[in-house]
Amino acid sequence: MNEHNHTVEEPKKSLNFIEQMVENDLREAKNDGRVQTRFPPEPNGYLHIGHAKAICLDFGIAEKYNGICNLRFDDTNPVKEDVEYVDSIMEDIEWLGFHWENVYYASDYFQQLWDFAVKLIKEDKAYIDEQSSEEIAKQKGIPTTPGTHSPFRNRPIEESLELFEKMNTGEIKEGEMVLRAKIDMASSNMHFRDPIIYRVIHIPHHRTGTKWKAYPMYDFAHGQSDYFEGVTHSLCTLEFEVHRPLYDWFIDQLATDDYRPRQTEFNRLNLTYTVMSKRRLLQLVQEKLVNGWDDPRMPTLCGMRRRGYTPQSIRSFVDKIGYTKYDGMNDFSLLEHAVREDLNAHTMRVSGVIDPIKLIITNYPENQVEEMEAINNPEDESMGSRMIKFSRELWIERDDFMEDAPRKYFRLTPGNEVRLKNAYIVKCTGCKKDENGNVVEVYAEYDPQTRSGMLEANRRVKGTIHWVSVPHAVDAEVRLYDRLFMVEDPLAEKDKDFRELINPESLIVKQNCKLEEYLKDTKPGDVFQFQRIGYFNVDADSTPENMVFNRTVALKDSWKKQQ
Ligand code: ATP
Ligand code: MG
Repeated sequence: MNEHNHTVEEPKKSLNFIEQMVENDLREAKNDGRVQTRFPPEPNGYLHIGHAKAICLDFGIAEKYNGICNLRFDDTNPVKEDVEYVDSIMEDIEWLGFHWENVYYASDYFQQLWDFAVKLIKEDKAYIDEQSSEEIAKQKGIPTTPGTHSPFRNRPIEESLELFEKMNTGEIKEGEMVLRAKIDMASSNMHFRDPIIYRVIHIPHHRTGTKWKAYPMYDFAHGQSDYFEGVTHSLCTLEFEVHRPLYDWFIDQLATDDYRPRQTEFNRLNLTYTVMSKRRLLQLVQEKLVNGWDDPRMPTLCGMRRRGYTPQSIRSFVDKIGYTKYDGMNDFSLLEHAVREDLNAHTMRVSGVIDPIKLIITNYPENQVEEMEAINNPEDESMGSRMIKFSRELWIERDDFMEDAPRKYFRLTPGNEVRLKNAYIVKCTGCKKDENGNVVEVYAEYDPQTRSGMLEANRRVKGTIHWVSVPHAVDAEVRLYDRLFMVEDPLAEKDKDFRELINPESLIVKQNCKLEEYLKDTKPGDVFQFQRIGYFNVDADSTPENMVFNRTVALKDSWKKQQ
């Protein structure tokens, strides 16, 4: 094939095991060719990147196979749930770029679930147990030996029906009794050993108020909700694999025809250097170890959004790690790589000096200002160029000057030449120090024949540094974010609580950073590449008077080097 005119084809991605299953079902015309999934968050916290993995699958499968995906709030436990979370969950799903067909709430099925529980009691498949949860747990036994029957297991059906009613009127205190399914106390699957299916909770529910006092357990609500809605493929994480037989058992008791939703499990997303469960994230927020759910160090979607991660980069990361049947850890640097890849293609290159020191071009006329052309994004010509101002006094990074430099240092050191990006080649002539020996100003001379873009700027220098013209610079606060934890798996440390392992340098705030003039008209959310440093976005706290930028991700992965 001629190398110069071959057609570039997207390599065909092989199907993951869930896509294979769905295609198989379609081939066999199961569910009349219908594909219906759901994303079922419990509204007890903000979504994190782990949820993004489930979202990409649930919505992605529906999109790919012309099906529908519903959003269902699994709101069966009023203790921890709140409307604040309902709203944020919807916002985050839309931000990722997905659309649900309908919004449902498991609480909408409370009556149907109640009626189903009554049916089970009448069929002698459920009973009211008045033992404490400790006693019940003890009697469950261990997988290799059968459990012990509850003394209430064979109480009259009428009695159970009466007590079940009372569980819902407020007469029964929390923990005083529960409803259990009567299945098999000797089953090797512990979930079959007369699972608790209803308990009493006196806290009002965020949607149903005080109407209900008896609430269904997860296992008694999830599968049935799938069934009521007509879900065909119920996708969830691997820890629910052992629940699947019970999921199927309840639906078998409920079904009136051949239709069955089918549960399939996939591996969780677990990121290094962070924790993922909502419970632990809530602890970080409540104990003020981070600045709220949307702290840019959090693995929450709102935190990542605030930090400048794009929906595309999150989706491409999820796509790269894929779906399997084995749990493992996903490398944080892989996520950062996906973020860089996306931002590299789309962001404008600008100059920002984080740790400024003044460079004076001693042979450049005072009060002269020149306009230099700067390409906005070498990866995307359509983004054009802009003019930036050059003058005698410039801000440069402190570490771009060294008085006594090693041989391989190609930046400013007395006698050495560097190119000022988009401007001239300058030769360093020295510096001024204060009484403590700290460098306060750097001096250089420029060569007027070396302006960038001149026809024969014929000279090569090894280093190029960025700069910002002093009279034109704008001040900003820059927040440098790093990994939230110092260790890969903060929950795996034996003698330490995860909260003691927070990286003390996960947030470093720099004041009086110097940015090029162009950045004064930016608004929260805008993302840029600060040349040679990294990607930065305008924080929600930013105002025209007090601009605040977040470091989204450094240009290179510096973490590995530090270790
Ligand atoms: P957490 O343990 O963080 O509280 P959860 O599983 O209790 O999470 P839910 O609101 O019940 O949170 O989850 C909604 C859906 O998201 C479920 O289908 C669940 O399997 C999926 N999910 C949650 N965490 C992850 C993860 N880390 N990776 C992939 N999917 C996840
Ligand atoms: Mg949960």
